[in-house]
Amino acid sequence: MAIQESFCPRCGAPATDGICGRCRAAGTRWLSADPRVTCIHCPTCGSLRHGAAWTDMACSREDLADQLVRSALHFHPDLTDPGVSLSIRDLTPTRSVAEVRITGRLYGQPVEETAQVEIAWKGEQCDRCSRISGGYYEGVVQVRAEGRETSPFEREVADRIAVQLEDTLQAAGERLAFISGVEEKEGLDIIVGSHRMGQEIARQVTGALGGQWTVHPKLVGERDGRPVYRITYSIRLPRWKKGDVVWTGKEYLEVRESGGRDVKVFDLADGGTRSVPPASDWRFIGNVRDAMEAVVAYIDRGVIGLLDPVTWASVENRVLPWIAPREGAMLRVLRDAVRGNLVIVG
Ligand SMILES: [Zn+2]
Ligand SMILES: [Zn+2]
Repeated sequence: MAIQESFCPRCGAPATDGICGRCRAAGTRWLSADPRVTCIHCPTCGSLRHGAAWTDMACSREDLADQLVRSALHFHPDLTDPGVSLSIRDLTPTRSVAEVRITGRLYGQPVEETAQVEIAWKGEQCDRCSRISGGYYEGVVQVRAEGRETSPFEREVADRIAVQLEDTLQAAGERLAFISGVEEKEGLDIIVGSHRMGQEIARQVTGALGGQWTVHPKLVGERDGRPVYRITYSIRLPRWKKGDVVWTGKEYLEVRESGGRDVKVFDLADGGTRSVPPASDWRFIGNVRDAMEAVVAYIDRGVIGLLDPVTWASVENRVLPWIAPREGAMLRVLRDAVRGNLVIVG
């Protein structure tokens, strides 16, 4: 049986089907490279613009340049095993140039090309930064407490929750979940860029500190034919907070839970826990978080002798059934300035 031999009409080399691989590869434009790519970034926060949308940049400028240059390369669909190596030089702060070498296989033949791609870096204020600098906001979270001032601890917790939420929501792609300001007024005012942000802060702050929150929207105008509301999220922290020690007129109680109608208290005399309605004449002694340490000087027939950590005077206290101190140990105490004694809290 005779072998059917055919030859390439271009070069005369043996070929199975018309033009040989080498001639097909040589006659095919398999690479096109855009001469210039533009990267629009926010000079304030580094966000990137893609078309009309902004996103937070999650990579370094080098990685970004690498991605941009690769996006400028377009290959023939028959190219296999493409390999790209590139080196980028910054010409000016707004202009870089990449020397690119591309290799691959086309119709069984190794191919190679070089190209040059210029990167133009363009700064433009992003949607979020322009809102912030323009004073735009959608809501205010007002942190207040019932019948008292908010404590530094409560303001710190609220502030930390807001900052953490800003990070998590933005990482999840909610670009406009920003805090545009925090003001200490009678309590704390947190000014936020989105309703979602305000609602989440109010929910988490009352979750951590107790209390209630209410929503007060106010129509402030129209945007693209839709009404625009500015919302006040009004938080009321409970009158008594966790860890507060009060004198009821008869006994010392430590508040363990509050926010509802009753408060759950720990009786600092007998160590029992119960729920009681708070009375208006409860006197605030201090919060266990601010307790001082006092050394146990002696224990004698149901009496604990404590050294007052400020005056160094010896102060006597009844032995408490819920605590078993040893001589020389430390106990945590609060001072009742009115009655002139130390209250053991732990
Ligand atoms: Zn040929
Ligand atoms: Zn920005």
